[in-house]
Amino acid sequence: MPKPDFSHVTKSNIVAFIADIFARRGAEAYLGEPVTISAHMYQSAQLAEEAGASEEMIVAALLHDIGHFTNEFPDNAAELGIDSHHDRAGAAIVAPYFPKIVTDCVRHHVSAKRYLCAIDQGYFDNLSEASVLSLKLQGGPMTEKAAAKFAEIADADAIVQIRKWDDEAKIPGKKTKDFAHYAPMLERLVEKYGKGS
Ligand code: FE
Repeated sequence: MPKPDFSHVTKSNIVAFIADIFARRGAEAYLGEPVTISAHMYQSAQLAEEAGASEEMIVAALLHDIGHFTNEFPDNAAELGIDSHHDRAGAAIVAPYFPKIVTDCVRHHVSAKRYLCAIDQGYFDNLSEASVLSLKLQGGPMTEKAAAKFAEIADADAIVQIRKWDDEAKIPGKKTKDFAHYAPMLERLVEKYGKGS
């Protein structure tokens, strides 16, 4: 299937752009975890939905790793010793079209892991092997000073909650809803918050 032309991503085609990424690249491996990247993102969104979270939070959970799709780093980037900075890449994609809380959760979900490792030894002990490996590349647990600063971010609680769903969303073979279930939520948020036309 050839890649559709999304050279101009706009408010009117951003959801189709994201749908296309999930369709073409969703089956790729998720950095050493036993699930594909789309399964991981669907599981994250489902945990949010099951918890009765807002549409903003469900969409943030669905899109938190979207940055993995937007760079040219290989799937086994973590093993190769490359931190692909998927958090910043993802935030840059969603920022013009989604509410700030979605962008913040995408931008800071890696920092949230470094934060939780700094304040909660139990959290660190429960991380998957792949997540411990990527933690090293991401700078390791935050210093006390950095953790205090992180806690002051306006959306810190939401970001930490997304991170917890992220960590749980790695169950091989779990049945989930797919992109079609979430597309109307994305459309509603883009309609309300998206810049441009
Ligand atoms: Fe993730």
